[in-house]
Amino acid sequence: MKNKQASEIFREFLKKGNNRITPERFEILDAALEFDGHFSADDLFIAMKNNNSRVSRATVYNTLELLTQAELLSVRNFGYKVNRYESAFKRQNHYHLVCIDCGRIVEFTEAKLENISEEISTKLGFEASSHSFNIFARCNKKTNCPYYDRKHNS
Ligand SMILES: [Zn+2]
Ligand SMILES: [Zn+2]
Repeated sequence: MKNKQASEIFREFLKKGNNRITPERFEILDAALEFDGHFSADDLFIAMKNNNSRVSRATVYNTLELLTQAELLSVRNFGYKVNRYESAFKRQNHYHLVCIDCGRIVEFTEAKLENISEEISTKLGFEASSHSFNIFARCNKKTNCPYYDRKHNS
């Protein structure tokens, strides 16, 4: 186990929910926390297979679900059919800019958005739990985007 503290959190979570504690689940935890960027369940499954892991696709899918419930991962929907995951362990809340042409994702933080989520929730009789904010845009520099020419010259 590479991520000791996260493993402890996950173990407690599994125990509390009467979920089975299996080595595969911790293998998936490590692989997920080490995955760079935003990944789909299949991205992770393929990466693990390439590392000679013997986990099944079904185990990857349901463990990602559990890791999200344990708040060790965040699940994102960037407007594609598949959800993306990313580590939430020791990470600050952040937002995303997504290029609708090439899919490039840039992360940013913005204190104003934190405040506004609380303000609106309180005003409307809620207690804010979490929020997400995505901006869908187009890269404005050719060097960043393989689709730039196609979209800007036609
Ligand atoms: Zn992110
Ligand atoms: Zn782009």
